[in-house]
This record gives sequence, C-alpha cells and structure tokens, in this order.
Amino acid sequence: MAARHDQTDDPRLQEALLQARRGTAFFARKLNELSDAELDGDSLLPGWTRRHVVAHVGYNARAVARLVEWAATGVETPMYPSTEVRNHEIDFGATLSPTALRNLFDHSAVHLNVEWRDLPGDDWHNKVKTVQGRVVPAEETVWMRTREVWVHAVDLDNGASFEDIPAPVLERLLKDITGAWTARGTDKDLVVEVTDQPATLTFGDTTAESPLVVSGPLAAVAAWSTGRAVNERYQDLEASRGDEPLTDIPSAPAWI
Ligand code: ZN
Repeated sequence: MAARHDQTDDPRLQEALLQARRGTAFFARKLNELSDAELDGDSLLPGWTRRHVVAHVGYNARAVARLVEWAATGVETPMYPSTEVRNHEIDFGATLSPTALRNLFDHSAVHLNVEWRDLPGDDWHNKVKTVQGRVVPAEETVWMRTREVWVHAVDLDNGASFEDIPAPVLERLLKDITGAWTARGTDKDLVVEVTDQPATLTFGDTTAESPLVVSGPLAAVAAWSTGRAVNERYQDLEASRGDEPLTDIPSAPAWI
C-alpha cells in the first residue's frame, strides 16, 4: 500500500498542519518527561492538576476530530453536547489511571491526525461550528488544536515556556487574544507592543491619548496576554502609562 499523505495541496494549510503536529509532539515530549506520580502535581491553571490538563488535551483532540468528521460527512457532530458535558469529561478524565490518561492523549492525537490526513482537499472549506458557536471552515480546526497543544504544554509546568512556541504560533495567538479584547471592549486604554520581531507589532487601543503600554519580546507578551506571565520567567516585560514607567505589570484582561 502506498504511503498515505494529506489530501490537501494548499501549502498554507500544509504549513499549519505541520505546526499542529509539532505542537502535539512537543506536548507528548513534556508529558513523557513526567513520572506517573508527577501527574498529580499542580499545573499552571488554577484548580487544575496536570491530570486535568492531559485529560482536557485528549478530549479536545476528540472534539476537534468530531468537527473534521462533520466536514467530511456533512453530518452535524458538535465538539461537545454542552459545556457541562465538557467539564464533567475533564473531571472524569483526571481520575483515570496514569496509563489510561497517557493512552487517551496518544490515541486521540493519532485519531485526529488521521481525520485531518484523510479529509479531501475541497472539504477543508466546509463549514463547522466551534464550541463558542462560531461558524468556521474546517481548516480552522488546525489552528484550534495548534493553540491547545502548545499552550497547554507550558501549563504542564515542567520546563516548557512560551519561548519554546514558534513565533508564527505566538503571533497568531496574540492576534486572537487582542482581537477578543477589542470585540469585548476590554482593551480600552491598553496598547500591547512586541519589540523583538523584525517590525514592531502593535495591538490594542492605538488611538488612546495616554494608554497603558505593555511591551516586550513576543514570547513574554504572549504569555502575559494569556494570563500566564505571573511567574519569574517573563521578567523582560515592561509597562508604562504615558511616558511614566510602571514598576508593576498590570494583569491582562480576561481572554476566554
Ligand atoms: Zn484548552
């Protein structure tokens, strides 16, 4: 049997799939570095152990795969029947044995990858609905998953940081987050600047008279915007109001 490849020949989508697969491999590596006992430890997410993170990432792959199946068959299969079901699933998953939890991650990731690989080129444009109710083309599922695996690898809190995440992923993440702030009007008087890229990237309320400006390297700014820069790893952030530097970096508006 011939080797099986992605059905899409869109180079942009192929590149996106590569980032998702790299992120999955990265999460797998960080997970494998944890002993079974260490899975009981806290993650960076309030109230969640590492077990919760692994369960969530596993069930997320299944949920994203349901959207890909929807795109392939035209039969509507939502990510989750409800938020309650989603949350209950994570709580349940966190009680699985370490072996079952690791299998959940591995098997769900393989399954999602097969769904992506076998999706015919044209079907990537078919519309599906996210858990937030957004109607998006199936190709969006690649980004939805990319974001999850990279960021939650950091949440495992065993050495990964936003510096490990590829710049294009960080940049798109930052665009998503600042876009969500703008949509909700929570970025009033706030400007976010990335200073370590070929051209300075600026987001937020750029017409404000004397905004709060938070600036720094892409990884630090992205970590901060997701609410995860409270640890000492991202000290290279700076904040100012008008021309006055601030000693404390205010926390970012809520993202999700
Ligand atoms: Zn998540």
